[in-house]
Amino acid sequence: MPLRSVSDIKIVLASGNRHKHAEFADFFASLDGVAGERVDLLNGADFDRAPGDIEESGSSYEENAAIKARAYARLFGLPAIADDSGLEVRALGWRPGIYSSRAATGGDGDRISRLLGLMEGKNDRRARFMASLVIAFPDSRDGARDYFSSEGICRGNISAGPSGEDGFGYDPVFVPDGREKSFAELGRAVKREISHRAVAMRGIVILLPHVVKYFLAYRG
Ligand code: IMP
Repeated sequence: MPLRSVSDIKIVLASGNRHKHAEFADFFASLDGVAGERVDLLNGADFDRAPGDIEESGSSYEENAAIKARAYARLFGLPAIADDSGLEVRALGWRPGIYSSRAATGGDGDRISRLLGLMEGKNDRRARFMASLVIAFPDSRDGARDYFSSEGICRGNISAGPSGEDGFGYDPVFVPDGREKSFAELGRAVKREISHRAVAMRGIVILLPHVVKYFLAYRG
């Protein structure tokens, strides 16, 4: 059954992080013609309604992303997309992982300082960024699943010190494999190609038919 109108496809982004919104918006803009549908990405942070503080109480990236996506989907009555991500460092037993954004009080600079402190004297600098993306629906009918997920990984090394101005979080100290500069020096175009979130987003393309089905079945 053809869609009544492609402008019917709307997805709410369940995040207040403007850097992530820019990465998602770039991705969905590049999708035109790939998935056959145009997706209108609404920024959850632009609405005057918000689901309030969402406790990321899950024990995996996927569980945390699903908690966020479900909360937004139910509040707005639309499919919602959320991600949960983190940095895993081998010499630290793959921590901070799902605790990355809470790894130290203060801002990104404080978390980087803490990480570099923990890495002092360590020769093994291997690390990886992990991301799980979830598209959740406001309800689940006929026993259908109420969310789908996609995973992404980006491997690299922790540098000796921070460099570069672009990006956010641990970008100034993460050097992806095959490169000699940090994500913060390489910039947005490179992250769009190789980041953990970019890899997970490519998996989302496969999920878009479920979103189309949702609009056809439940919103007509
Ligand atoms: P959350 O996914 O917003 O819960 O937070 C994940 C945390 O992992 C961020 O606050 C950053 O510290 C880190 N992180 C996740 N993705 C990236 C990235 O692309 N660059 C740098 N840091 C990241």
